[in-house]
Amino acid sequence: MLTAFISPGKYVQGADVLDQAEDFIKQLGTNVLILSSKTAWKMAGDRLEQGLGDLTVTVEEFGGECSKIEIKRIEDLAVETGAEVIVGFGGGKALDAAKAAAYYSNLPVVVIPSIAASDAPCSALAVIYTPAGEFEEYLVLPHNPNLVLMDTNLVAASPARFLVAGMGDALATKFEAEAVFTAGKDTLAGGVPTGAALALADLCYETLIEYGRMAKVAVEAGAVTPALEQVVEANTLLSGLGFESGGLAAAHAIHNGFTALEATHDYLHGEKVAFSTLVQLVLEGQSTGLIYEVLDFCDSVGLPTTLSQLGLANPRKDELLKVGQLATAAGETIYNEPFPVDAAMVADAILATDAYGTSIKEG
Ligand SMILES: [Zn+2]
Repeated sequence: MLTAFISPGKYVQGADVLDQAEDFIKQLGTNVLILSSKTAWKMAGDRLEQGLGDLTVTVEEFGGECSKIEIKRIEDLAVETGAEVIVGFGGGKALDAAKAAAYYSNLPVVVIPSIAASDAPCSALAVIYTPAGEFEEYLVLPHNPNLVLMDTNLVAASPARFLVAGMGDALATKFEAEAVFTAGKDTLAGGVPTGAALALADLCYETLIEYGRMAKVAVEAGAVTPALEQVVEANTLLSGLGFESGGLAAAHAIHNGFTALEATHDYLHGEKVAFSTLVQLVLEGQSTGLIYEVLDFCDSVGLPTTLSQLGLANPRKDELLKVGQLATAAGETIYNEPFPVDAAMVADAILATDAYGTSIKEG
């Protein structure tokens, strides 16, 4: 039995990191292709361009989905511009597209998240969607990003909903890692979870419980505070290292099931993962104390605890069964749970979670 742990080459976090981008990026190359989301560029493109100083820079707008077509387009552009390094700037999908394009181009990749909405930035994983936005597959890359630059001023300037969604994604980390460890399954790192991964996953959860609410309020005020810094680290670094070297289990598989329902498309990855984490805990038969602690946390920061908060006010039983069927598709991470799972069990756990969520709102 092997244990394994992987991580990005370097992770740098703080207010105003963008202003020092050249110092960090020039070590990887001086001809830079930036794949930027429209929103990120509008918000801080000037700052990034200035921060890149004397580097040669080509900026390309991200098409909106991390699809195979989009990845190929960026790959071709990297050849055309003679890029030595690809920089992804924006949200999870833009970053994943940059990572995938860099891999196919055999170039180093720098990830600059504009929000702290998921644990994608640090990982050696790109989630591929169809051009219509449905989950297609995980692309497992041979290494993590060479560099992650996390500018907390960008997070503070973005809607709080993104930070909250990041907390939802980070919420799953500890519980998925524990399931994988108990089941003795391998992670994306290529072995069973290390003690380091489990400790990081624990710290991730503790940080959310301790600082999550304060961080949300700080972002609503547009302020960078120590609580915000802690939660950004939990959402991005701890959750990223934790899920990758600690493993994924039911929560992310159930999330993938939800993406098949049109009504959930307006909701962010982390929002669906938060609810799916609750479903995982119910499915696992966790204690009342733990389930209500997580429910209360979700409620306190505005993460969904009911189906209606995911756009599914009156779900039909066959819709929930469809989520269950997709969550239990061959190769899904739900099989990292330490017990047998089927679609009907998932559908029932979803219904029960919705009822618990509804009960705390009714007081
Ligand atoms: Zn996730």
